[in-house]
Amino acid sequence: MAILIIEDEKKLVNILKRALKRERYSVDVAYDGEEGLDKAMKNNYSLILLDIMLPKKDGFTVCRELRAHQIHTPIIMLTARGIVEDRVNGLDVGADDYLVKPFGLNELFARIRAILRRRKTSDPDIAKIADLIMDRKKHEVARAGKVIPLTPKEYKLLDVLLSNHGEAINRRKLIDHAWGPDFKETNNELNVHIRYLRKKIDDAFSDSKPLIHTVRGVGFVLKE
Ligand code: CA
Repeated sequence: MAILIIEDEKKLVNILKRALKRERYSVDVAYDGEEGLDKAMKNNYSLILLDIMLPKKDGFTVCRELRAHQIHTPIIMLTARGIVEDRVNGLDVGADDYLVKPFGLNELFARIRAILRRRKTSDPDIAKIADLIMDRKKHEVARAGKVIPLTPKEYKLLDVLLSNHGEAINRRKLIDHAWGPDFKETNNELNVHIRYLRKKIDDAFSDSKPLIHTVRGVGFVLKE
């Protein structure tokens, strides 16, 4: 189990590192928000301890950006301020829990164990709706037991829709996720790729109900 610590207080980092290693976690460290984000995107951690006040990029931003990239690694926010807004903010941007500094190591371990236990039972690597399954570890999508080859763009689009199934996702969010925030559509790219995706996951399974629906004036929704 690998844990990433994103924290700029070296003294605290050393204490955490030593304690976590003693509990047999492997530990990686980033001392600012940018480095932390970079590491969290590139590696597969079991959990992230994320400080809020960080150089270069604060913890809220790091957390929000990770979730926007569909990185669902559990996050415990570390806050020195301990005010209510921090807590609300942290959970708003997609953190799983928070700890107010100074905290005891036993408290920290208990939270880590609770989150990892929760994760194990809900399996964040598997997303499912009706007979459609996405296995994020294998990077594989199947419907009615049949594996569906998707292009990277189609996979990304489906990933956002599936992570938020039942919710109308606006066009910009889909574009941001599949192409990046600077992308400007010139040839109706989103509709084109959604059409490909529909062909593969809906039209090809005429015995199953269609899952991708257009929400006029907004974007698309994945639902039964
Ligand atoms: Ca700090």
